[in-house]
Amino acid sequence: MVELQDDRLATASVRLFLKRDDLINAEIPGNKWRKLKYNLAAARDLGATTLLTFGGAYSNHIRATSAAGMHFGFDTIGVIRGEEHLPLNESLRYAVSCGMRLTYLDRTSYREQQGQAVIDDLERRFGPFYLLPEGGTNELAVRGCREILTEPTPSFDTVYCPCGTGGTLAGLASAAPDGVQVIGVSALKGGGFLVDDVRRLQSAAFGAESTNWAIDTEHHFGGFAKRNATLNAFIDDFRERHTLTLEWVYVAKMMCAIFDHIDSGRIRAGSRVLAIITG
Ligand SMILES: *Cc1c(COP(=O)(O)O)cnc(C)c1O
Repeated sequence: MVELQDDRLATASVRLFLKRDDLINAEIPGNKWRKLKYNLAAARDLGATTLLTFGGAYSNHIRATSAAGMHFGFDTIGVIRGEEHLPLNESLRYAVSCGMRLTYLDRTSYREQQGQAVIDDLERRFGPFYLLPEGGTNELAVRGCREILTEPTPSFDTVYCPCGTGGTLAGLASAAPDGVQVIGVSALKGGGFLVDDVRRLQSAAFGAESTNWAIDTEHHFGGFAKRNATLNAFIDDFRERHTLTLEWVYVAKMMCAIFDHIDSGRIRAGSRVLAIITG
């Protein structure tokens, strides 16, 4: 936990604390570890020896699952959206170096990844497995993310996190103290659908939804895994001020949203903000 010293914050009378979940582990950073933790325990309890999961070719979750498999003794299978592109990109090369077997699904089948036909076919090909959904988000993952806020933190009135599937936001919001607002910043374009997903995840994991959260859909910078000159300039400026290179797919978009919300007055003078550096 560090407090960010920044003249823009001082001018606005806002205090900003960073929860450095990116430092949890070099191979399984931040929220990917939170989301895997109880799933790995469940897989072991069920006697599973293989983990199978889904992701895009640049998925942090695919990387993290491959590393977790290597460290904790599971075989891993990564089902990648779209066609194989050789040579493999750096993420997929890393996954393979951790022992992950890769297979590819066309986009139509990929959309049906929860469907029985797709699962049956994968079981025929690979044998039994413990299934982790895309992005690693399920009930157990949301319970793991809850723990981000059960560790000691300074007092705060607002929490920010980035959103991909909304699993992290669902867990954080259920753990936030009374009166604290949790804002998820969508890394994808058209992130409005996340509202229903977060509600569903909270109900499934905790039997109740909370109303202390909201989603910012204005800071996607062109869409998932897209970046533009504004975002690049923000990252460069932040690195110069703080010698910290923000992860750009999620974390930089969230940080940029925080400074925009300070400028616009949505974050008011006197606020104490906690930003979750998820990776
Ligand atoms: C995967 C990921 C997220 C997205 O988390 P969700 O729980 O899917 O919303 C956020 N930040 C980083 C760094 C990630 O790798």
